[in-house]
Amino acid sequence: MADNCDVALAELYQYLDGELTDDARQRIEQHLRDCSPCLEAFDFEAEIRRLVADRCRDQCPDALRQRIQAAIEGGEAAV
Ligand SMILES: [Zn+2]
Repeated sequence: MADNCDVALAELYQYLDGELTDDARQRIEQHLRDCSPCLEAFDFEAEIRRLVADRCRDQCPDALRQRIQAAIEGGEAAV
């Protein structure tokens, strides 16, 4: 199970970027249904992306992205 979590979280970003194959997407979606910690991580990441998309559209400065990324990795809300 822990192995699956590592894989799911590693692929989460690609999933959100729409860069995964159908097989990989289904694998992650199935994992999220069974694993609430990963689902929470997924929801959090998806929410951050929505905020970034709202604020920056396609032109989010790299510095802001890095700050948000650091906040995610630090376990703190970015806004
Ligand atoms: Zn998991």
